[in-house]
Amino acid sequence: MPQRTETDSRKLLRRLRDEMSLANPGQERLDRITTIIAESMGVEVCSVYLFRDADTLELCATEGLRPESVHQTRLRLGEGLVGKVARLTKPINTANAPAEAGFRYMPETGEEVFSSFLGVPIQRLGERLGVLVVQAKEPRLYSDDELYGLEVVAMVIAEMTELGAFVGEGTGFATPHKLPFAMRGLAAQEGEAEGHVWLHQPRVVITNLVNDDSRAEAERLNDAVEKLRVSIDELLSRAGNRDAEHQEVLQTYRMFAHSRGWLKRMEEDIRLGLSAEAAVEKEQSAARARLERVPDAYLRDRLHDLDDLSNRLLRILTGQGHETGAEMPDRPILVARNIGPGELLEYGRKLRGVVLEEGAVGSHATIVARALAIPLIINVPRITTEALNGDHVLIDGTEGVVHLRPDDSVSSAFRDKMAMQAKAQERYASLRDKPAVARCGTRITLKMNAGLMADLPSLPSSGAEAVGLFRTELQFLARDKMPKRAELVANYARVLDAAQGKIVHFRTLDIGSDKVMPYMKRPDEPNPAMGWRALRVGLDKPGVLRMQLQALIRAAAGRPLSVMFPLVAAHSEFTRARDVFMREIERERRLGHVLPESLQVGAMLESCSLAYAPKAFFEEADFISIGGNDLKQFFFAADRENELVRRRYDTLSVSFLTFLQLVVDRCHDAGTRLSFCGEDAGRPVDALALAGIGIPSLSMRPASIGPVKSLIRRANLNEVSEIIARVQARGLESARPALLDYVATLVD
Ligand code: PEP
Ligand code: MG
Repeated sequence: MPQRTETDSRKLLRRLRDEMSLANPGQERLDRITTIIAESMGVEVCSVYLFRDADTLELCATEGLRPESVHQTRLRLGEGLVGKVARLTKPINTANAPAEAGFRYMPETGEEVFSSFLGVPIQRLGERLGVLVVQAKEPRLYSDDELYGLEVVAMVIAEMTELGAFVGEGTGFATPHKLPFAMRGLAAQEGEAEGHVWLHQPRVVITNLVNDDSRAEAERLNDAVEKLRVSIDELLSRAGNRDAEHQEVLQTYRMFAHSRGWLKRMEEDIRLGLSAEAAVEKEQSAARARLERVPDAYLRDRLHDLDDLSNRLLRILTGQGHETGAEMPDRPILVARNIGPGELLEYGRKLRGVVLEEGAVGSHATIVARALAIPLIINVPRITTEALNGDHVLIDGTEGVVHLRPDDSVSSAFRDKMAMQAKAQERYASLRDKPAVARCGTRITLKMNAGLMADLPSLPSSGAEAVGLFRTELQFLARDKMPKRAELVANYARVLDAAQGKIVHFRTLDIGSDKVMPYMKRPDEPNPAMGWRALRVGLDKPGVLRMQLQALIRAAAGRPLSVMFPLVAAHSEFTRARDVFMREIERERRLGHVLPESLQVGAMLESCSLAYAPKAFFEEADFISIGGNDLKQFFFAADRENELVRRRYDTLSVSFLTFLQLVVDRCHDAGTRLSFCGEDAGRPVDALALAGIGIPSLSMRPASIGPVKSLIRRANLNEVSEIIARVQARGLESARPALLDYVATLVD
């Protein structure tokens, strides 16, 4: 068989393009394409297999195999050589297919007479669409040129599939992206939502796949790459003294942008007839396929960088920016690979929910989504390739499931669930002005956690009696430079105005660990959650802490002010922080500012050590708020951000409850007010146990106040306390089963 030349490939691509321009039905197109490829490559067989569903490939067109087998022959992912190509997203090239490991004989196709086999994946941007195969009787290995040429053709077929070229009449296929797609990710913020997809980074649409003049096209590519390089250099010079990680990403961009290998591969694609855009996308697809196979997290990050760079190059080539002119749909649900906290804040409460392909439970975006109280699902594979702007989508942030383009039965079941929840919310709303008094007469104070100005409207509507925790760091995280004192004053004053006299417990900056401000240099730490974070940073570098305290004092301007310090681990730390605060009060007085009407200074108990602090600490602190999220991670030595361990230990384990009882006793002895503000306070059964062991005040997400209040009002806390004591006496591990039994007996 003759070697393929550039002209062969070019002719083949042109014929495919011409075929595409004819208004033929989908099946006819597919049939014609296989015939054209077989003729052009001088082989007896050319077949196209497309995915019928995520696990099944179907023979959709063939030249050379028995026509009756079309739409009859099906293979599972990984089955036979075709299934293997699809699973590995790698070509298979063999002179003797029947002898190849994994070969599966399919009698209906009559393929045993063909010896040589070359199969390449049909894929687009990491999405597997099918397999393109050529076969011949002659036992021979295909040359690299032939393999490369077939990959180029597969790329064109992928684009055609994407554009719906093979839809309808005879093929039995719906337009890709029109089929329902359900995927499970990780629940990062509870709640359900129905809406329409809004892509954070809309895809670049490529319409011309084949070039008419390779030389001109290669020039176009080179010009675009040059522009790309300049733009990266500009970004690098602008990044200046930004943090090391940001610099590193840009340096990697720069390295890729100057990579000869990358450019050469794209030039080769163009030489074989692809347009510059199609060439960029072909290499991008190949990189994404590699991405799936790379286990090393660092290398995966670098391949992601290459992916980002390819998108930039595509935008330069096509002139398509992020702004596509599309209008945001109603009830938008944001779909993105990842998103920064600032960008998410910009969308704000317009969004009904967020779905991310990456993300982490403890990322800044997650913190912001929690603050915005919108459901968030992270780590959803393939969502950015599957979703199109405007697609109908249902997200279940409690189960971590996304239903894209759901069919009617899924939609109606989902709506039933949402309606039931809305009913429950109505019931909770009717409790809004009623106190959380248990049947035994004990009154529990329910407060809300907040972190954004946008949270404040929930204060009256949720029935919260105060803001038990205001996470001040969100304002710092969501920007690219340190906020000025005047901005802080204005922000805190607005928060206090909106609280309308209800007390707000401001927590001073809790940065470090997962909360990293891009503009502040940080040491590289082996274990940041136990490292230089929270009050430790505040005491060692008091500039920001002092500015924040000054801003709080000025914002209070004659109103009561409550401040608490995060992650206090020793009495002396609290004393020092309190001294800093008192010095600022004195300074503000000297400067003539109106001082707060009253002051409360509290500590967050988030490390076990503080429970054993001297009595003087408990006497000195006006109040103590248990930060259960951090406390639990240190108590159980289980990282709160690590999926492998974060749910491993139960809040209602006897060991943890017994420890909390010690804190209750110590506060009781010293007359210190006690509150609990970790996420567990918002989980009704957990909240009941916390109230049962004597914690009089719980602070939670606004949406949790109704359910928690409803349960407390139905329960008798003496009984809860007795149940916990019995579980302790019996030496059981957790009080949860007994408490769940008890809750089941309570009348609704
Ligand atoms: C906590 O640790 O429980 C807490 C409320 O603080 P954060 O979640 O912001 O660390
Ligand atoms: Mg904490």
